[in-house]
Amino acid sequence: MNEKHYQGKPCKYGHDGLRYKASDSCVECQKQRWLREKTDPIARERKLAKDREYYQQHKDDLLAQAKQYREENLERLKEVGRVWREASREQRSERRRKLWTVLDKVGQRLVVIKARAKKKGQEFTITPDDCPPVSHCPVFGIELDWAATGQQPNSPSLDRFDNTKGYVPGNVHWISWRANNAKNSSTVDELEQVIKWMKSLQDDVNKHGEING
Ligand SMILES: [Zn+2]
Repeated sequence: MNEKHYQGKPCKYGHDGLRYKASDSCVECQKQRWLREKTDPIARERKLAKDREYYQQHKDDLLAQAKQYREENLERLKEVGRVWREASREQRSERRRKLWTVLDKVGQRLVVIKARAKKKGQEFTITPDDCPPVSHCPVFGIELDWAATGQQPNSPSLDRFDNTKGYVPGNVHWISWRANNAKNSSTVDELEQVIKWMKSLQDDVNKHGEING
């Protein structure tokens, strides 16, 4: 820690004279400077600019110091790293387990899809790299449940954008089963016609509702 001592006479702002030994700067002034740098954006930017300038001017020295520190504290730093890894091991293995589960689910799903495509005579040339897993349905925004089995609304479903083509790179996306079910084998034109028809029916219902009510 920084050592402090009483220098005897107050600083130019009248603080009691407690100063840091190394820099001879007033402890109270320094405290106020830190507070300003924390709370005042302009003071903060000024400090960062100063730090950057200091770094540029002393870059070689600072890098050499850091290197020397690493070399002199090799064992201690190793220990710090070991403790940190130990503490976060659980967290990392949980993350890895989740990722692997999803990747595995992609592989499992592709096996099923490939078998079905073969039966239907559809082209199938994709690998898991062509359809990386996504967390949410890009159509409805709902979270996909990669653990779900069967046709749940939020289970992932591999859509072929162009249904005249097979499972080929660039033609496939993971969307929710619900979205894929709504899209089915429709083209953009067909879906627009469906929407137009549904909206006109809805308008009729609204109108009648108003007339009758
Ligand atoms: Zn002061």
